[in-house]
Amino acid sequence: MKFCSECAAPLIVEVPEGDHRPRHVCPKCSAIHYQNPRIIVGTLPVHQGKIMLCRRGIEPRIDMWTLPGGFMENDESLAEGALRETWEESKASVEIEQLISVISLPIVDQVHCFFLANMPVAEYSTTEESTEIELFAPADIPWQEIAFETVKTTLQHYINSVQQSLTKPYQVCNTTLGPRKSDTY
Ligand SMILES: [Zn+2]
Repeated sequence: MKFCSECAAPLIVEVPEGDHRPRHVCPKCSAIHYQNPRIIVGTLPVHQGKIMLCRRGIEPRIDMWTLPGGFMENDESLAEGALRETWEESKASVEIEQLISVISLPIVDQVHCFFLANMPVAEYSTTEESTEIELFAPADIPWQEIAFETVKTTLQHYINSVQQSLTKPYQVCNTTLGPRKSDTY
């Protein structure tokens, strides 16, 4: 961030009064430009015990399998974002059952959230973002070709919950993956 989005003046980096860490501050209009983590939201769609995965048609991790998901938009709820992303990437209509994972990735300033979702009918189609969509039994998940660690963690947590015959709602997998930026200093 170099220029103020309010008045276009060049920004400086300093700790504002009463704050505890450096921010991008505008010396002209005094606006403080906070930078905070972004939320990625998606679903884990299940149809008759099988899990829907999408093969990525875009970078990063093109050709790898993933759960449908993407950046949450302003003016929507977490669940609405999950349903929207699922529709955009797979044209699947799903019903939210419960939150299943909340995974912090401090190294990239992101939080990934997934909902367990019921897919009553196995209707879906490829899109620009997904070149192939398939339902996988838990034993057939292509673990070596899963695009993201957060997706792998979410799938493992869900499958463990099913295999242990736990009753719903399942516990939410609330964890942190990878190092923090402060670890590297
Ligand atoms: Zn300004």
